[in-house]
Amino acid sequence: MRMRGRVALVTGAGSGIGRATALRLAAEGARVACVDRDGDSAEDTARQVRGLGVDGLALTADVTDERACARLVETIVGRFGGVTAVVNAAGVRSDLDAAPPPAEWQRLLDVNLTGTYLMARAARAALIDAGGGTITNIASIYGVVGGSLSPAYAASKGGVVNLTRQLAVQWGPAVRVNCVCPGVIETPMTAALLSDPAWRETALRRYPLARFGRPEDVAAAILYLASDEASFVTGVALPVDGGYTAA
Ligand code: NAD
Repeated sequence: MRMRGRVALVTGAGSGIGRATALRLAAEGARVACVDRDGDSAEDTARQVRGLGVDGLALTADVTDERACARLVETIVGRFGGVTAVVNAAGVRSDLDAAPPPAEWQRLLDVNLTGTYLMARAARAALIDAGGGTITNIASIYGVVGGSLSPAYAASKGGVVNLTRQLAVQWGPAVRVNCVCPGVIETPMTAALLSDPAWRETALRRYPLARFGRPEDVAAAILYLASDEASFVTGVALPVDGGYTAA
């Protein structure tokens, strides 16, 4: 019960890594606000959170909307009395396009990078008021090395990695800020890619652990970073990638 007494705000909680993280934090005792732009999926996760015996709240919001981020923090503080752990898992990927058009570039940066910043900024005062807290962002292996996804995705995730370091420097000691850099994880986001046997086979050769990740692999790393076990850890970009970036 490493998160007993804590209140977590998880964006992108309706699917994949965000959902697995909401459930893992709940299983460790946290009350969880499940935020997603898809309200039905957020409600579904919140129901599963409550099924674990802790309070779960679903909130519909788009993380690119500054006012919506502020409103949802207010709602969570009203309901749970504060916020102590923010997880920014809302994100989008683009097609495998080596030269995406400007509108696609902007869409990726808006959600993955600006959305992460807006949510962190909206929650900052509440984290400080709670006597300190954590922000854990989801970057990617493509935020630290080049790869086959689009330049827009890579740039947005590289931005998340250094945003994480910058906030760790400027928002400490009250707020610890870290990110995880997952390799390919089996979620709805990667379902189309992973259904291509040729792509799978080629990609797998680059994974020393010889498999793709599961959402639970990432949730476990996020739990560590959000818990007191990581109380001397801030500003890190932790690979959760089966060894991809070591190879
Ligand atoms: P997913 O598509 O399964 O889930 C993403 C969730 O975010 C969805 O529920 C979606 O509705 C929500 N969302 C998207 N845009 C939003 C917005 N503007 N506001 C609020 N909610 C929004 O994807 P996933 O694989 O779980 O990815 C989660 C995060 O992990 C993303 O940032 C992704 O880039 C990152 N990531 C994923 C992988 C992977 O292989 N799956 C690898 C590295 C990093």
